[in-house]
Amino acid sequence: MQILNTVPDVRVVVKEWRLAGESIAFVPTMGNLHAGHIDLVNKAKVLADRVVVSIFVNPTQFGVGEDFSTYPRTEQADQEKLSTVGADAVFLPSVSDVYDPDAATVITVSGISERYCGAFRPGHFSGVATVVCKLFNIVQPDKALFGLKDFQQLTVIKTMVRDLNIPVQIIPVETVREANGLALSSRNGYLTESEKLVAPELYKVLCAAKAAVIAGRQSFEEIEQQFVKNLVQFGFKPDYLSICRSQDLNPASDNDTELVILVAAKLGSTRLIDNVYFSKGV
Ligand code: AMP
Repeated sequence: MQILNTVPDVRVVVKEWRLAGESIAFVPTMGNLHAGHIDLVNKAKVLADRVVVSIFVNPTQFGVGEDFSTYPRTEQADQEKLSTVGADAVFLPSVSDVYDPDAATVITVSGISERYCGAFRPGHFSGVATVVCKLFNIVQPDKALFGLKDFQQLTVIKTMVRDLNIPVQIIPVETVREANGLALSSRNGYLTESEKLVAPELYKVLCAAKAAVIAGRQSFEEIEQQFVKNLVQFGFKPDYLSICRSQDLNPASDNDTELVILVAAKLGSTRLIDNVYFSKGV
């Protein structure tokens, strides 16, 4: 596995692969790799001749008071995992490799970036869109894989790719969960032992909310309110639980059939996000 630290390093390797007629799949991450990330890499390997994984804790997507400085950085272990799974290259840039000190360009996917997580993390999705666009320009992949766990992020990126005609195919990948339903996340490592016992309730509440939507006896608003209360009873501090149209994340109305329920809630000091998407039928 090649270790690439700078943009010119990536350019050289990508050029060689391109000259050999090889296709490239890309998996952007912030490191502290778990089985969810590894699943993305395994899927990428099936889809292209070469797989590039980036590990970059992107400062511009963290807000003031968020966990940028404490975000788990486990580069050595990450590299070993990627080498074992057979990634062809890992891109590990420093902040100054990615951002020019005089950088003046920011990408904002308006509308969707301000809702749900965006309302609680102002500027977060601009940071994500900007760094992902830059990484696409650096790696120039044919395909890029993103987890459905970050459903809103995936929608922001799909919208950006559509709007800016970026020549990359976005491949969504199912959420990898613990046996108890908890979605794997680098931030789960922040949970205390007692919080770990409660955390799986987040997904159970989502599944119960989904069942309530399918049963169709209450309005979406009533369901949202009921399950927010439910989360509070378990000890979460919910930011939101919202029933949305899965295609564009607009609030769902009764006629919509393709739905996703998005949730974000704090457990102690750890902010967890998750979702369930489904077809309601008519
Ligand atoms: P992160 O390192 O948290 O920025 O995540 C990097 C990529 O891994 C993103 O596309 C995430 O959506 C994806 N990812 C994170 N957790 C999971 C999971 N539990 N299952 C599948 N993909 C995931």
